[in-house]
Amino acid sequence: MPETRRFMRATLAAILVVVGSFAAAAIAITVAATPSQAATCNGFVGLTFDDGPNPSNTTNLLNTLRANGVRATLFNIGQNAQQNPSLVQAEKAANMWINNHSWTHPHMTTLTQAQMTSEISQTQQVLQQQIGSAPKLFRPPFGETNATLKAVEAQFGLTEIIWDIDSQDWNGASTAQIVAAAGRLTAGQIILMHDFPPNTIAAIPQIVAGLNSRNLCAGMISPTTGRAVAPDGATPPPPTPTPTRTTPNPTPTPTIPNPPPTTTSPPPAGAACRVTSVISAWNTGLTNNMTIANTGTGTFSNWTLTFTLATGQTITSGWNATYSPPSGQVTATNAGYNATIAPGASTSIGYQANHTGNTSAPTTVSLNGTRCATA
Ligand code: ZN
Repeated sequence: MPETRRFMRATLAAILVVVGSFAAAAIAITVAATPSQAATCNGFVGLTFDDGPNPSNTTNLLNTLRANGVRATLFNIGQNAQQNPSLVQAEKAANMWINNHSWTHPHMTTLTQAQMTSEISQTQQVLQQQIGSAPKLFRPPFGETNATLKAVEAQFGLTEIIWDIDSQDWNGASTAQIVAAAGRLTAGQIILMHDFPPNTIAAIPQIVAGLNSRNLCAGMISPTTGRAVAPDGATPPPPTPTPTRTTPNPTPTPTIPNPPPTTTSPPPAGAACRVTSVISAWNTGLTNNMTIANTGTGTFSNWTLTFTLATGQTITSGWNATYSPPSGQVTATNAGYNATIAPGASTSIGYQANHTGNTSAPTTVSLNGTRCATA
């Protein structure tokens, strides 16, 4: 990224107020065009936005991401975070993944090792104080790195993340060009965008629609692999069927915010299936990672899982199954590679949904018509 970027930022800030109204119009159109069937995630991509938080841009970016039901990875500049703590809180409240982009945005490879350490360490400290845990990802400014920098990153347990596709949004790319760049993303890949260009904000609704039309969803970046994965960190399913995939997720403790008041008809004792929901909610959205366990003696084949979503919840995307309709009584249909659940085996599926305050787990869960125990 050239040095002209910083000059551009000042210029762009001046016209941002005007552009804001156009961005708002774009959001309204997207929300109105709710698909009749939620997108299925056959893979995940990492949407990244660098150089925030900034008072003139970040709120608009977060509102646009939330209106389109996606989460993104934000590479914050440390001194911006220190100067704008409320914006970091807003990023956290919007359930974004907040990571380290150095303290002052220097050309890191021109620095001494001690200076590199200072850039990374100060940012880690401030972000840890602000978000409650230390970032795990570091993106060097301008994508410039070397062996010394990698050694410093390793001291802080940071995974270096560059990008697969540069949207060129820092270089004056048009909205159409940014959308086209995102259109080249394939599963696991990461795109570079920024917190400040109005064209980037304007591109987000089309980027999300384009991904959904290709059965790709916005995911998180795995600190282990540096690739885009499902929001809970689970690896997206392979495209080809594999006979037995019963690797459970690394067991997060089930924290279900608002348990349903009273289940009307409990499942029979010795139910043949048990479905566990693990919900992660933020102010307008949630993800639910569901584990479907076969606790009976027969095999479930070509299964459908039916359940009732809590009032106000609408599924925007899902993984490892197809979900339809997106609200009310939902039917999740198996994918090709997980069509069989043998006795004693389990499989994991999940979805992301918008909500209007009720973040409860689904109720009345049945597998091939058999009522399941829930937890
Ligand atoms: Zn940057």
